Amino acid sequence: MSPKATIAIHGGAGTLSRNNISPAQEAAYHEALAAILRAGQQVLAEGGTALDAVSVAVDLLEDCPLFNAGHGAVFTSAETHELDAAVMDGATLKAGAIACVSHIKRPLRAARAVMEHSEHVLLVGAGAEAFAKGLGLEMVSPDYFSTVARREQLHRAQASSVTVLDHDGAADSAAPLDESRKFGTVGAVALDTHGNLAAATSTGGMTNKRPGRVGDSPLIGAGTYADNRTAAVSCTGTGEMFIRAATAYELCARMAYGGQSLEAAAEAAVMQSLSAIAGRGGLIAVDAQGHVSLPFNTEGMYRGQMRVGDAEPQTAIFR
Ligand code: ASP
Repeated sequence: MSPKATIAIHGGAGTLSRNNISPAQEAAYHEALAAILRAGQQVLAEGGTALDAVSVAVDLLEDCPLFNAGHGAVFTSAETHELDAAVMDGATLKAGAIACVSHIKRPLRAARAVMEHSEHVLLVGAGAEAFAKGLGLEMVSPDYFSTVARREQLHRAQASSVTVLDHDGAADSAAPLDESRKFGTVGAVALDTHGNLAAATSTGGMTNKRPGRVGDSPLIGAGTYADNRTAAVSCTGTGEMFIRAATAYELCARMAYGGQSLEAAAEAAVMQSLSAIAGRGGLIAVDAQGHVSLPFNTEGMYRGQMRVGDAEPQTAIFR
């Protein structure tokens, strides 16, 4: 069994700022990340595929209300939920995604169903929901995704939109994110013992987003990408900039055509290209040799990694 098989996960780059997070909150995030890493690592340790490992990890991240995906997703400006998700298989370059859905309990499973059971890559809205329902995926009332904390977050964002926008335009890209504008996608990338890579991303998007808005997460090459020849990548941050920079694909292109290492490609994609257009956030990436890179230009990013054979997962929030 290859000792390099590994999984990395993120719970978004819009963390609570260091000054506002209580020790109990911090511990809760570390515990959740560690438990999810153990579950994903277990899949790999048993010889499971990278695709299955990232699917299990994102299922659990979606279920956890601490993170902005599935239950606990953020609200749109119309006080509704619109979820996006994508998955990509690095061995075949097959991909599946869904966007703007509000009744599919597990958005990532629906994205995987698009990949495995349709000839398409991206389905949106009512069509995506009908497709998922037709395959017997669990459907829920949109209320399922709501939490009190996220509703309060929306109301704060709406009450202070001018301030939030000013803050958002700040030149200092390392400034803590405004808590009311906080974003927080979840994602996972993995290399399995067979040498295959996979990436998955799932999100409620950004608080107070306009209904109908689609972010980078479900767009292959923007927020999600995997290719066995280079890397598996899952992004989190201000989605519009990740779309404009094609961040996930840029990282892979730097490796493929520029001969860069995973570390150099990941750092450049986030710290140079994304930062140059005031994009904020980060990504997680793993290459076919099992190197892992987790760069971000925000104050923090909920993140962690675990290799097959590791006794304990490594988790972190701040720099
Ligand atoms: N990138 C996501 C989006 O723009 C948000 C996030 O990462 O939290 O929809």
